[in-house]
This record gives sequence, structure tokens and C-alpha cells, in this order.
Amino acid sequence: MNAPLLLFLGLLGTAPAPRPRLVVVITVDQLRADYLDRYRAQLTGGLGLLLKRGAVFADAYQDHAVTETAPGHATILSGRWPAHTGIVRNAAGVLDSAAPLVGVTGPGAAPTRFRGTAFFDWLKAAEPGARALSVSGKDRGAILPIGRAKQQVYWYVGGYFTTSRYYADSLPDWVRAFNGRRLPFRAAGATWNLLLPARAYPEPDSEPYEHDGKDFTFPHQLSPDSAQAALEYLGVPSMDSLTLAFALEGVRALALGSRGAVDLLSVSLSTTDYVGHAYGPDSREIHDQVLRLDRSLGLFLQQLFVRYGSGNVLIVLTADHGVTPFPERSRAEGHRDAQRVNVDSMIAAVNAQLDQRAGGGAWLAFESGMVLLPRRGELAGQGVNVDSVVADVAARLRAVPGVARVDRPADLAGKDTSDAVVRRWLHQVPLNAGVELVATLRPYSIWVYLNLPATATHGQPSDLDAHVPLIFWGRAIRGGVYGERVNTVDIAPTLARLLGLTPAEPLDGRVLTEAIAAPD
Ligand SMILES: [Zn+2]
Repeated sequence: MNAPLLLFLGLLGTAPAPRPRLVVVITVDQLRADYLDRYRAQLTGGLGLLLKRGAVFADAYQDHAVTETAPGHATILSGRWPAHTGIVRNAAGVLDSAAPLVGVTGPGAAPTRFRGTAFFDWLKAAEPGARALSVSGKDRGAILPIGRAKQQVYWYVGGYFTTSRYYADSLPDWVRAFNGRRLPFRAAGATWNLLLPARAYPEPDSEPYEHDGKDFTFPHQLSPDSAQAALEYLGVPSMDSLTLAFALEGVRALALGSRGAVDLLSVSLSTTDYVGHAYGPDSREIHDQVLRLDRSLGLFLQQLFVRYGSGNVLIVLTADHGVTPFPERSRAEGHRDAQRVNVDSMIAAVNAQLDQRAGGGAWLAFESGMVLLPRRGELAGQGVNVDSVVADVAARLRAVPGVARVDRPADLAGKDTSDAVVRRWLHQVPLNAGVELVATLRPYSIWVYLNLPATATHGQPSDLDAHVPLIFWGRAIRGGVYGERVNTVDIAPTLARLLGLTPAEPLDGRVLTEAIAAPD
């Protein structure tokens, strides 16, 4: 914590209203919980403030198997597992061609697959005047935290913040004005240097497996071409500052928290994910990214406190998932069987056999560790014994080096849920969703797909991918470090309790009563 920020908080001790004026939910894409310990001494901004003054849950999880962005974001304010939100994987996340983007070209997006309600719906039912603003670098990061609500929802596409026709037919003046500054385009040729002197970073900066073997040492530079720089911008720390500046612009334009109702601001910061994929969780780049994120969040929180008074803002910080290192790095650390596992050609071979017997092309799909057979009935109708095909695929998968186990979802139902892999798959897969098999890799191995660059990645039911930060901060929060095991599905019920709201449906999470201060 830096002295000015503490002093500054001390000066803001005006009498707070009984309820917060604004609920702020910050999701950092791919922020592993251990980063906060690793860099703690250097966190002097927003992360430092939240760690020092907040209720810090040190053992928190996205406790489901497919630890990807879309399912992770959907748990945070719904209080429900992917099996219940319907958001099971990125590839079947928010993309929707029936909801084209407004003013730019790119894939349309909407919460079409999201089932049920979320925190904002409960807030709006109690306070019809409540509003939500949700922003992110990514469509799924902006859309899923507020469920199906048609509110102010914006994400970044090619240099501009936009929305889709699900939400609006045109962009409001404040968004157009912000876009009109063209900050990402004007960053063409800009350099990303280390924030601190090089001796503050113990990590090596010369690992050739990083960033596909190109440009893996500091300084990094954006393309001199402005349109290309606007695309690359998602991968440099300035993108998070831009997202936070855009959120603050929206707070002002919409007068959030200033109209008598409690409003919701959801911000999902995407750059940690891009940097983590490209350079890995043990890189100098991710270290610098987290320090810069900390500083950007510090400025952001200061501005919120000036606007509302620090006692009138309720803050949650968490992540949608963690990340597994590059296998090269893991092997060097002693995890000898860490490897990239690809089963595309095996699945293609099975499909080719099925095509010979039944026609119809690609019956089986493999995605995110799941074997899908959406047209099972049709295949059975062609006289194929589908159960024996599935059993054969399971046997072939089990023989692939790096695969730890392969299960049929139905077989997991009675199993011991103290086994994290069993529990996380049960939380993941809805019944009757066409998921025939679920495959889990050995720790430190990762799935790879043909024709994609070799990155560090996430998506396993491992603690590396599932363990995330969870911090609450606010007047009604009892600060401290809490060691019991909790989950991101606990966030929504806890916020509901803090605001006296009634969730509209059964939830999977619990109220974290231990972090709620006695009323004063
Ligand atoms: Zn990612």
C-alpha cells in the first residue's frame, strides 16, 4: 500500500449511506491466486489495497472442469455451476449470428445459451430503477456476468467498444465519443517496457518457447500500422487501463449510483489472459502485467472513491480461471510427463469409420476435454451400436499419453465428490447435453488443437486452472484472510445477502457469512 492511497482513504471518511451506491465486480481474466502472493511486496495499487483491507479468501475455486472464460464468467454472478447456467464451454458461449455487432464487423454475440437468472435480475426485481454497466475486452467477459439482462454491455472489437443488437441498435453518444478518441490506433509503434527496474523481476526473460518463438524479450512494441496496433492492443497492459477508463466514462454518463438505486458495474479485464497464454504464468511479462494491472486498479478505485465516498462502494475481485505453464517449463521444474496432447486425428479417424458405415460426416466432436455426439439418435437409427463406438473411443483416449482418466458423465454421479476431478465434472456437464465422455489430463499437461500456436493454456479440472483469487471489500465486509475452501458460485448469494435481495431460483453457492460484518 502506498502512503498517498492510505492517506487518501482516511480523508474519505464521510458518513456512508446504509447500502452501497454501487456494486463493482472486477474479474481479471486468467488471474491465478498465487500471483497475489508471489508479487505481494510489489503490489502498491488496487490489488494491494484489496489485499490489505478486504476479506481475502485464499482458497477459492472456479470449481468446475472446463476452466475456460465463458463458463467461468457465467458462475460469478449467477451463483450456479456451468451444468446449471448452460454455459459449458467457450465454443458454445455467447457467439450468436442473430445478434450482429453495432457499427463494426465481427462475430455477433448474445446470452442466448445462458439459462436462468443472475444477481442483476434479483437487484432489478427489488429496485426497478437499478442499472448495470458491464464492460470487457471480450464479448463473453462483458455479457455473461449479467446473465440475460438487456443493459449497457460493451466489449472491444478491433479498436472500438461496441455492443450487439441483442442490447441496442446504436451506440450512445458517450461510447461514440470514447471510440472517437481512437486511443488504440494512436498507440501504433508504442513500446511496452518494464514498470520497475529489471532487478525487480527474478524471472528469466529469454525462454524461446514463449510467444511462439517470436518477440519473447522486453521491450515489446506494437505494430507501426494503426489498424494492426488496435488488434494487438488486447495483448498489452494499456488495454486494461483503457477498459477501466471506459468503465469510468460510463459511470459518469449513466450517473450510476447517483439516482437513488443501487447500480452494478461489472468490469472484466482481459489482458492478463492474452499475456498469460503468450508468455506463460512464470514469465517476466506476466509479472509486469500484474504490476501494471495493480497500478491501473489503484487509479480506478481512487476515482470511484472520490465520486461515491469509499464507504459507499462494494467491491468484489475474482478471476474466471487460472492457467497451466508451458509444458517445457513444467518439465524443467520436474514434472517430467508434462506434455501437449492432441487427439484431433484419432477423432477424425473414428469419424471416417462412422462415415463409411452410416454416412453423415462428422458425428463425433472433441472440445475442451469433452466427446460430444449431438446426433446420437440419428446415428443409432443408421444401425450403429453407439454404446460400443463410445466405449471404443474411451479406450483409445485412455491409451493417449498424457490422459489421466476418461469417464462417462453418468458413471460419475454416484462417485466420491471429495475427488476434485469427479466433483468438477459433475459441476460441469448438464444431463442430456450430448456429452458422451469427459477426459482429464495428467497434471501439467494441456490439450492442443491442430493449426493453433503453442501457448500456455487452461481448461483442466486442475487446481492450476481452477484456483482463483476472491476478495470482498466494503463497509459491510469484515476484512481479514479466510482459509476455508470457497467457490466463485458463493459470490452471488453473498452479494444478495449484503443487499437484502432474494435470489430468484435455487443456487449452488452459499452465503459467505463469515465475511459479513455485524450491522453498526
Ligand atoms: Zn484464456
